[in-house]
Amino acid sequence: MPRTRPSLVGMRYGRLVVLSQGPTRHAHRTWNCQCDCGGTALVGGVNLKRGKTKSCGCLRIDVAGSLVGLKKAWKARSEKTDARRIHNQVLDQDWDA
Ligand SMILES: [Zn+2]
Repeated sequence: MPRTRPSLVGMRYGRLVVLSQGPTRHAHRTWNCQCDCGGTALVGGVNLKRGKTKSCGCLRIDVAGSLVGLKKAWKARSEKTDARRIHNQVLDQDWDA
């Protein structure tokens, strides 16, 4: 009895959802995947199952981008806090006057 090779269609791996089976390459099955970002990727089943591939390639860019974004957010937040503190000080002065 041959070993069953279950379909991965519908499975989610990270950002990728398997849409359909792709061509077999070097005796390994590949899968057409839809990425959360809207992109698509053809990924080997082994890479999916081992968690080696979790996006169409956008994840790495996002991680790098989010670090920059995080710093910007922190900067914006601290500036906002400063502005509020100054604003409150002005209000306090108004109240005192
Ligand atoms: Zn993507």
